[in-house]
Amino acid sequence: MTGAMVPVLVWPPDEDRVEAIFDRLARIMPEPKTELHFHDAYTLTVAVALSAQATDVAVNKATDKLFAVADTPAKMLELGEAGLTPFIASIGLYRNKAKNVIALSRMVLELHGGVVPLNRVDLQALPGVGRKTASVVLNELGIEPAIAVDTHVFRVSHRLGLANAATPDKVEAQLHRIVPEAYLAKAHHWLILHGRYTCTARKPNCAGCPVADLCPSRAGLMMTGPTGTVPGY
Ligand code: SF4
Repeated sequence: MTGAMVPVLVWPPDEDRVEAIFDRLARIMPEPKTELHFHDAYTLTVAVALSAQATDVAVNKATDKLFAVADTPAKMLELGEAGLTPFIASIGLYRNKAKNVIALSRMVLELHGGVVPLNRVDLQALPGVGRKTASVVLNELGIEPAIAVDTHVFRVSHRLGLANAATPDKVEAQLHRIVPEAYLAKAHHWLILHGRYTCTARKPNCAGCPVADLCPSRAGLMMTGPTGTVPGY
């Protein structure tokens, strides 16, 4: 996890402050969506699996071409690992990801009739699909209001004082306890987008942040430089 974080000593945070943060984010981003390109559950699952330690932009660049020739488990198997690898070679960990995409396509075809199983147990049993990938897929398709904790969600949650746990799984559990029900389905997107475009790891834009007055980290991060630049990151 990258970026300066101000330790939060008191948890859970004040309920009114939490409500106000999500109310504000909801007004600014009423319909947040994943920035990954996909057109069904299968292409979404593959795209999310490819996105570990890679940017959405890099994944989209690869999948736009890949899905034009292989957008079903059967077509992906036909392409094979050797055929798939060149499409994703610009993405981190691509060799392992190529193996997993072929293996998961085979399992979807052989065990689930070619349809991605949209329940957490079966989804997480697919090769290369961990808890975080399953959460993103289930949340994006409106099946489960999950909060997948990636580097952005982790950092923003700490800075905003929404969580103070040391691991993504524990932060996820803390967020589930404090995020109001009405905001749960979209909280994942709001925190990611806020972290990607405003509360960035190296240069958080505290001066232009819509929740700055509700953020316990603002003063500390603004003191680090005129634009909130954090030395050493
Ligand atoms: S005030 Fe700064 S640290 Fe706090 S959420 Fe906004 S950008 Fe992040």
